[in-house]
Amino acid sequence: MTGTVTNWAGNITYTAKELHRPPTLGTLRSLVAGAAGVRVLGSGHSFNGLADPGPEGLLLSLDALPPGIDVDTAARTVRVSGGVRYAELARRVNAHGLALANMASLPHISVAGSVATGTHGSGVGNAPLAAAVREVELVTGDGTTVTIARGEERFGGAVTSLGALGVVTALTLDLEPAFEVEQHLFTELPLAELDFEAVMGVAYSVSLFTDWRAPGFRQVWVKRRTDRPSPAFPWAAPATRALHPVPGMPAVNCTEQFGVPGPWHERLPHFRAEFTPSSGAELQSEYLMPRAHAVGALHALHAIGEAVAPVLQTCEVRTVAADAQWLSPAYGRDSVAVHFTWIADTAAVPPVVRRVEEALAEFDARPHWGKVFAIPGSVLRQRLPRVADFRRLARELDPAGKFANAFVRDLLDG
Ligand SMILES: Cc1cc2nc3c(=O)[nH]c(=O)nc-3n(C[C@H](O)[C@H](O)[C@H](O)COP(=O)(O)OP(=O)(O)OC[C@H]3O[C@@H](n4cnc5c(N)ncnc54)[C@H](O)[C@@H]3O)c2cc1C
Repeated sequence: MTGTVTNWAGNITYTAKELHRPPTLGTLRSLVAGAAGVRVLGSGHSFNGLADPGPEGLLLSLDALPPGIDVDTAARTVRVSGGVRYAELARRVNAHGLALANMASLPHISVAGSVATGTHGSGVGNAPLAAAVREVELVTGDGTTVTIARGEERFGGAVTSLGALGVVTALTLDLEPAFEVEQHLFTELPLAELDFEAVMGVAYSVSLFTDWRAPGFRQVWVKRRTDRPSPAFPWAAPATRALHPVPGMPAVNCTEQFGVPGPWHERLPHFRAEFTPSSGAELQSEYLMPRAHAVGALHALHAIGEAVAPVLQTCEVRTVAADAQWLSPAYGRDSVAVHFTWIADTAAVPPVVRRVEEALAEFDARPHWGKVFAIPGSVLRQRLPRVADFRRLARELDPAGKFANAFVRDLLDG
């Protein structure tokens, strides 16, 4: 490849033979049909080799294709092309008086890349972002388009697909009427006697942040919809200044706080579209477990806090409602998601990741596909009951295995 191409975090340098930015769908089709191995690069916000096709493969960016965002206000849906990011999508949808049900902590990421990895926000009633998808359009290995819609049996593998079925050229998503959200922050919520269900269920979307230096949560972010009841938050004191989840980072990068109501897409993400999200110099890991295990899992992490804290910038605890995508980390279970923003040290972080995975193994933890993890495919196949169904679908749509890189092969075949 001419020049090096890295992911957003800079910890992965893609080894692909070539990077192509096809300007038309026709060029994309012939590139895919003529390649031995292909992977698509979305906005590159994953922290592992998931997008890398390997040294013989082709990396495709959809940046040069004409972006499409077609809102159907009567049907309350939007058809979005494969390279579009949430920031642009959300602005356009909101301008039509409509909304997505939820967003991740940042709007900078591509829609296709996000739903491919099971990306999620928080909320006991909010499933991963992939749950909004009603139709997927894929260019498969022979260069032809396959459309798979909700209701078809194979739809279960079609959205959270790790990019292993083909190039997602368009997605159609469900929308709902636009709504407003107020963001209230609280500080120092104790872990002792934590009523996890009550705390996380108090509003539409709730996140807890800790540094694991003390048993409790330094910050609680409560995102209330103004069109829903708004119970009090009696468990911690309101924040007295604007906060960033990473200690020491400027709160100006974050969405408006102190209960100022605003449109859904300017409150549901923690980070503003026009600023660097998170800390910018970091690695990330995340694990999803059945929500009933939340308190046990948090105590298990507190018990290894001395190992975790030195390489941690912040740890975020969220809830994710169950979804039906076969490879989704929230497949079939209402989940607690425990996320780690590590320091950007690729030597010091992996041993701690393994410590965390040992501590969370008894809770049947499934990793976020876009983040750093070490659990081997042989173990993941035990924790994700529909891998065999996904393998069948991948073989049907991609018989030559063009979209199966080392990451995907480890999961499917080990
Ligand atoms: C600062 C930061 C904050 C984050 N916050 C959250 C969060 O709040 N919640 C959460 O769940 N995750 C979060 N993530 C993780 C992020 O959402 C995922 O890594 C997501 O996959 C990023 O999308 P992307 O387009 O950048 O994906 P990429 O890394 O570019 O690609 C991910 C996968 O999708 C595939 N892909 C991308 N586009 C296509 C396409 N058009 N067709 C076929 N395959 C495609 C790629 O091949 C690859 O396999 C965060 C990441 C960062 C860096």
